[in-house]
Amino acid sequence: MTDFTMTTDADGVATITWDVQSKSMNVMSTEAFLALNGLIDQALADAAVKGIIITSGKKDFAGGMDLNVIAQMRAGGAQAIFDGVMQMHHVLRKIERAGMDPKTLKGAKPIVAALPGTALGIGLELPLSCHRIIAADNPKAKIGLPEIMVGIFPGAGGTTRLSRKLGAMMAAPFLLEGKLSSPKEAKGAGLIDEVVAPEDLLKRAKEWVLSATDADLVKPWDQKGYKFPGGAPYHPAGYMTFVGASAMVHGKTMGVYPAAKALLAAVYEGALVPFDTALKIEARHFTSVLMNPSSSAMIRSLFINKEALEKGANRPAAADQSVKKLGVIGAGMMGAGIAYVSANAGIEVVLIDASQEAADRGKAHSEGILDKGMKRGKVTAEKKAEVLGRITATTDYAALAGVDLVVEAVFEDPKIKADVTHKVEAAVSADCIYATNTSTLPITGLAAASKRPEQFIGIHFFSPVDKMMLVEIIRGKATGDKAVAKALDFVRQIRKTPIVVNDARFFYANRCIIPYINEGIRMVAEGVEPALVENAAKLVGMPLGPLQLVDETSIDLGVKIAKATKAAMGKDYPDEAVDHVLFWMADQGRLGKKGNAGFYAYSDKGERLGLWEGLDHKYPLDKVQPSLTDVQHRLLFAQVLEAVRALEEGVLTDIREGDVGAILGWGFAPWSGGPFSWLDIIGAARAVEICRGLTAQFGPRFHAPALLREMAEKGETFYGRFGDEKAAA
Ligand code: NAD
Repeated sequence: MTDFTMTTDADGVATITWDVQSKSMNVMSTEAFLALNGLIDQALADAAVKGIIITSGKKDFAGGMDLNVIAQMRAGGAQAIFDGVMQMHHVLRKIERAGMDPKTLKGAKPIVAALPGTALGIGLELPLSCHRIIAADNPKAKIGLPEIMVGIFPGAGGTTRLSRKLGAMMAAPFLLEGKLSSPKEAKGAGLIDEVVAPEDLLKRAKEWVLSATDADLVKPWDQKGYKFPGGAPYHPAGYMTFVGASAMVHGKTMGVYPAAKALLAAVYEGALVPFDTALKIEARHFTSVLMNPSSSAMIRSLFINKEALEKGANRPAAADQSVKKLGVIGAGMMGAGIAYVSANAGIEVVLIDASQEAADRGKAHSEGILDKGMKRGKVTAEKKAEVLGRITATTDYAALAGVDLVVEAVFEDPKIKADVTHKVEAAVSADCIYATNTSTLPITGLAAASKRPEQFIGIHFFSPVDKMMLVEIIRGKATGDKAVAKALDFVRQIRKTPIVVNDARFFYANRCIIPYINEGIRMVAEGVEPALVENAAKLVGMPLGPLQLVDETSIDLGVKIAKATKAAMGKDYPDEAVDHVLFWMADQGRLGKKGNAGFYAYSDKGERLGLWEGLDHKYPLDKVQPSLTDVQHRLLFAQVLEAVRALEEGVLTDIREGDVGAILGWGFAPWSGGPFSWLDIIGAARAVEICRGLTAQFGPRFHAPALLREMAEKGETFYGRFGDEKAAA
């Protein structure tokens, strides 16, 4: 059974149905595309066929290209990619021309795309080559071109067709930001032509096929006198658009995402030439992006491996552990957020705090988020009532009867946490799993307060809980498989991405992010221009510079963590130079963004104004400033060496988790695919060489770990050595 089949009815309307038997969502493979080509040839050649409907046998049209295929395409090299893409253009162009006489523009057969639901990527590029796109009014459907989100861009004509259809300005959100729309929004934006009741979809498609005139079948760009909407680059309005777009793209991406630049170049250059040449230009830029290691690393981490982790790649075998009723202890910033995301996912929640007032405040947090959603038209009054109805805010531990998972998010104090553990265990049944959201305290130590340490686990959320997609699951020494399965099933229910790590100081994410912040602060103490530090970070793709990051997480928290770490490490503590700055800032009362004063200055309204001038007085600038690359190497190696050590020590057991966790947890340069992908891009030998230089200049914290040195000697890569499967623990 092939992915596409065709039937022709008595009225001469052929229906090509896309239905990939082995998958719940259609995705395009190379073979399927060839099969589609064959059916189109057949229908165009058959005098009995008057027109064609392309639709899906599933509730959705298509999720896009099989990204595994894209990953494989690269293996053939640039020419093979280019030839493959041109072949695709050829087929789609054949659909678009549909047998018309190129001179008279007459004689084409109408081809309509009938979309029952979601249509993404090639699932929209194929319809864009048809003469009309009709979608079912399915509010759950998402229509768009999300390729840019995984480091590529629409390369099957979507870039050229959409920009010529809408103009560069109107197409920008769909091409450059991967914006997805409901069918009605897509119709409003001009992405598709018609929205009809689901039951009328095929009827209406057939009606259109049978009534279409020759003029309906000629795309604007195939008509004489076609003008690029909004103006081509050398038109005064077009000039403004393209200059603005270039500045905007660079401002947002800092030039580190090859796909965004290439996309813009394809639109700009394509707008200056005839349509078929524009497709060729699109294909050349697409090939260059696919050949760039950044795109393969992004696809691997942000799509393939992220999905694998969400599907439970590292879940121990155990029966379904979905959470039915959740207890959350501590209704502060984190507990309130955890209660919200859980109730929003349909889970009953008992939210406990020490006072009723605090518990109610925690529940009000959900109300606030839902109200914002209502203002944006994303949440209905019924949905709000439903979600709030699932949260019981109380001080009474007896309300925990029947919960099957508890997440503790009280103050970061082992004594308070132990007390809560005792109280919870007295109130819940013996098979309830107990999780702590601690960010710094080892799980194994906290589990000592539990009667059932095999059911005790870390479930570490990031702030703000409703926005941050990563959840770090931490196995204590005694944590059993059932607890891990429970945590993973819970994370799946709330639609976040899990990584599972072993217990160690700061687990994985904080272990890597703290050295990044510290390296930035250390440079300030050395007299490096703070603006250089911040900009170097952003220019290498970090979302926030280290100084802004410590302002956002708060300087007093930094002080607290530094004191606790020093107490634990004693004379081995390596960060005195950092503390000098951090403690001084705290003494000045500059506690970060929350206090409107930190490494940055803020307005009374809390807007960030610029780096605080007082820093330069206290830490005078060195006359000779380091190069941008040196600063970037310090900031990146501070993080990636920690990731390698975490792998070496068995805290991380899977490099996929290391990469996905770094991007989702602390925004590690997404263009690189994560710390391990980045090291693979530059190569272990080069990494070791850079480490040698950094160690000589700045000290042993940059000493390359043995694993990296060994890999450099053997010429290995992380993905080569540890594969896509679990790394040897
Ligand atoms: P918070 O101070 O905002 O909230 C803590 C809440 O716990 C308060 O409402 C407090 O009244 C309540 N509480 C204290 N003792 C209690 C008790 N004995 N019984 C019931 N309730 C009690 O703190 P937070 O930022 O939400 O942090 C909570 C936990 O989450 C900490 O362990 C922290 O390390 C961890 N964490 C915080 C972040 C973050 O960014 N803030 C991120 C990840 C993890």
